[in-house]
Amino acid sequence: MNTAEETQILDAIARWLERDVRPKARELEKKDEYPESMVETMKELGLFGATIPQEYGGLGLPASTYAKIVAQISEVWMSLTGIFNSHLIMAAAVSRYGTEEQKKKFLPKFASGEVRGGLALTEPDCGTDLQAIRTRAVRDGKDYVVNGTKTWISNGIKGSCFALLVKTDPNAKPRHQGMSMFLAEKGKGFRVSKKLEKLGYKGIDSAELIFEDYRLPAGNLIGGVEGKGFHHAIGGLELGRINVAARGVGVANAALKDSVAYSQVRKTFGKPICEHQAIQLKLGEMATRCEAARLLVESAARAYDAGERCDMEAGMAKYFASEAALENSIEAVRIHGGYGYSTEFNVERYYRDAPLMCIGEGTNEMQRIIIAKQLIARNPA
Ligand SMILES: Cc1cc2nc3c(=O)[nH]c(=O)nc-3n(C[C@H](O)[C@H](O)[C@H](O)COP(=O)(O)OP(=O)(O)OC[C@H]3O[C@@H](n4cnc5c(N)ncnc54)[C@H](O)[C@@H]3O)c2cc1C
Repeated sequence: MNTAEETQILDAIARWLERDVRPKARELEKKDEYPESMVETMKELGLFGATIPQEYGGLGLPASTYAKIVAQISEVWMSLTGIFNSHLIMAAAVSRYGTEEQKKKFLPKFASGEVRGGLALTEPDCGTDLQAIRTRAVRDGKDYVVNGTKTWISNGIKGSCFALLVKTDPNAKPRHQGMSMFLAEKGKGFRVSKKLEKLGYKGIDSAELIFEDYRLPAGNLIGGVEGKGFHHAIGGLELGRINVAARGVGVANAALKDSVAYSQVRKTFGKPICEHQAIQLKLGEMATRCEAARLLVESAARAYDAGERCDMEAGMAKYFASEAALENSIEAVRIHGGYGYSTEFNVERYYRDAPLMCIGEGTNEMQRIIIAKQLIARNPA
C-alpha cells in the first residue's frame, strides 16, 4: 500500500467521522444504543474486511494502516472499533490457519459485513488463564456437540458467527493440546443468555453466550485438526494488542485535544487556564504520552507487517498506550474542572472507556510479564 492510497482511505474515514459519527456519538452512547446506520456505512467503507486478504474480498490492509484507522475512529468514538476489531481477529484465525474451503466459505461474507461476529474465548471463571476453559466439544459422527458458557463476548448479540475456543480433550497434558477452535454460527443450542451492563464501551453489545447440546459440523473446526485452538487464539493476540494499543492512542489524543481547546477558553484569575503553569505541566505530559504511544504502535505494526515476532513490541505498545489513555482521560477531567464531571462534555466518556484497554487482549499485568520474559529470552546471560 502506498502513501497516496493510505491517505485516500484515512480521508474517507475522516469525512464519515465528522459527518455522521461526531454529531451522534454522545447521544447513542448515553442510550447505550447499537449504531445500526454507522454499521451500514462501515460496511461500505470496507472496514469489516480491512485486514482480510484481497483475494477473499477484503482490503488487505497492512497492520500499520489498520492501526491508524483504529486510532482515528477511537478519537471520535472508541466503541465503534469494537464492532470490527474482534470480527477481524476471527477472520485472521481463518485466513492464517483455516483450510482453503473454510477461507472460501467464510472470508468473503466476513469481508462484506454480511456475516459479523467476534471471538469467544473468555468464560465466567477464566479469562487470563485460557487453558482452564471448560466449554467442551465432543465428536459425534460428522458433528461435534458443544456444551458450556462464554462471557464478555463483544458483538455477542448483533453478531452471528464466532471463533469459539473449546476443549476437545479435557485430560490433555499439557492442557493446550486439548484445545480447539471452531467457527460457530448461531443456531439451535447456541443462545445469548444476557446482555452485560458496563461502565463504558457503550453502544457495542457484550454478552454471555450459552451452548447446550449445540451441534457444530466437523468442517467448522479451524484448520481441520484438533488440538491447535490455543495456538490459534494466541496467534491472533499480536494483532489484537496492536488494535487495542491504537484505540488507546485515539482516546489519549481525544483527551489531549479537548483539553487544549478547553484550556484556552476557560478563564480563571483573569487569564485562560492554559496560561497557568499547573495546567501547562499536564498538557506537556499528555502530549508526550500521545506521541510516545503513537510511535510504539507504529513500531509494533511495522514489525508485524514485516512478519517478525513482535509479542514484546505489541505488548509494550498495548501496555503504554492504554495507560496513556487512562492517564490522559483523568487529566482531561481535572482540566475541565466541574464540567469534566458532566455528561455534556466528552471527557467523562474517555474516562469510562479507557480502563477497558488496560484489561482486554491480555491485562496490563500480563503485558509487563510478557515483555520481561521476552527481554530475558532475547538477551541470554
Ligand atoms: C468490555 C469487555 C469486552 C470483552 N470482549 C471479549 C471478547 O470479545 N471475547 C473474549 O473472549 N473476551 C472478552 N473480554 C474478556 C477479557 O478478555 C477478560 O476480561 C480479560 O482477559 C481478563 O480476564 P478475567 O476478566 O477473567 O480476569 P482474571 O484472569 O480473573 O484476572 C484478574 C486479575 O488477576 C490478574 N492476573 C491473572 N493472572 C495473573 C498472573 N499470572 N500474574 C499476574 N497477574 C495475574 C489480572 O491481570 C487481573 O488484574 C472482554 C472483557 C470486557 C470487560
